[in-house]
Formats: sequence, C-alpha cells, structure tokens
Amino acid sequence: MTERGLLIVLSGPSGVGKGTVRKAIFDSEGNDFQYSISMTTRNKRVGEVEGVDYYFRSREEFEALIEAGEMLEYAEYVGNYYGTPLSYVRKTLDEGKDVFLEIEVQGAKQVKEKMPDGVFIFLTPPDLSELRSRIVGRGTDDLEVIDARMKIAREEIEMMALYDYAVVNDQVPLAVERIKKIIDTEHVRVDRV
Ligand code: 5GP
Repeated sequence: MTERGLLIVLSGPSGVGKGTVRKAIFDSEGNDFQYSISMTTRNKRVGEVEGVDYYFRSREEFEALIEAGEMLEYAEYVGNYYGTPLSYVRKTLDEGKDVFLEIEVQGAKQVKEKMPDGVFIFLTPPDLSELRSRIVGRGTDDLEVIDARMKIAREEIEMMALYDYAVVNDQVPLAVERIKKIIDTEHVRVDRV
C-alpha cells in the first residue's frame, strides 16, 4: 500500500507574504509538494491566470460546491469566498504525495478539525507596522480594504496557538529554509512512519 502523503498547511495574516513564500518554496530546489489551487469568488488581478493562481468562480457556483460537500474548507474574507476543493487534496494524499495549502486562518482551523494529522505552519510578520506597509506597498487595495485586512491580521495573530510551528517571515529565503526543514523533520517523525 502506498504511504499517505503529508498535508502541509501554510497560514498566517494577510500581507505577511504567504503567497511569496509559497511561490519561493515551489521555485526552490528539491521540493516535491503538490500545490492545491484554491477557489475564489474575488476578481482576477492583473497577471493572474485561471487554474494557476486560483479557480475563479461566481458566488452561486461556489455556494453550490459548499452545499455538495466538495470543499475541504472555505472562508469569507473581505467579502469574497476562498476555499480548498476536497477531491484534489484527498486523491493526491492517497497517491502518497505531499499536498501544500496556502490559506487564511479560518480555513486552517477547519482543516485542523478535519485532518488533524496535517502539519500546521503559521507565518508571522516581524511586527504589525511592517505588515501594514507591506499591504500598502502592494498597491492593489484601497484604504478601506487595508483597514479591514489589518483588523483581521490582529485577530489572526492571536490564533497562533492552533498551529504546530511559527515561522517569522523576516527574509523570504530564510522563511523558505525554515519551512523546508520543518517538512523534512515531519517526514521522519516516528509516529508518522
Ligand atoms: P488574495 O485575495 O490576496 O489572493 O488572498 C486573500 C487571502 O485568502 C490570503 O490570506 C490567502 O492566503 C487566502 N486564501 C487563498 N486561498 C484560500 C483558500 O483556499 N482558503 C482559505 N481559507 N483562504 C485562502
């Protein structure tokens, strides 16, 4: 029988750099994870590609998938749904491959309840003011959205206790190395082999 893959959940506040760190991990040498592409109802940003960055769907389509039990987790975040399709995750883990999720904290909490064997990693900003300037610097959101994201970020940091590991994102290459070490370590844990 094939050994089941590891479910790796990278989460943390908006603007902390989850997306950047995730992309750097996938661009780095020697990783062998499968990225679970999320579904969202938000509008596509310039440069984003359907089926690569996200599956972009209407609210109606998204809600129908929730109803049908086809989402591993989902959350409403700044007025839009974001979620992880269940079938891909289940199938890929069953094939013995590691699956990597990059999701916000409400979703991570749901995954923890359904798949507690996952490796839950919380990416933290060096401090909150730096987080704000990163969100503003990204230049894609207006001030109202930035304030909403900051409020969520403060609440999210309090949720760190749910996670197995906290990784500071002071420099992306360092955060990537720390995460890869965690995953290597998880692979050789006696209670997993
Ligand atoms: P953005 O709109 O900047 O792409 O993403 C907003 C937030 O949604 C980020 O914190 C991102 O990590 C999170 N997110 C992306 N995909 C998912 C998902 O499938 N589920 C959940 N719960 N959050 C997600």
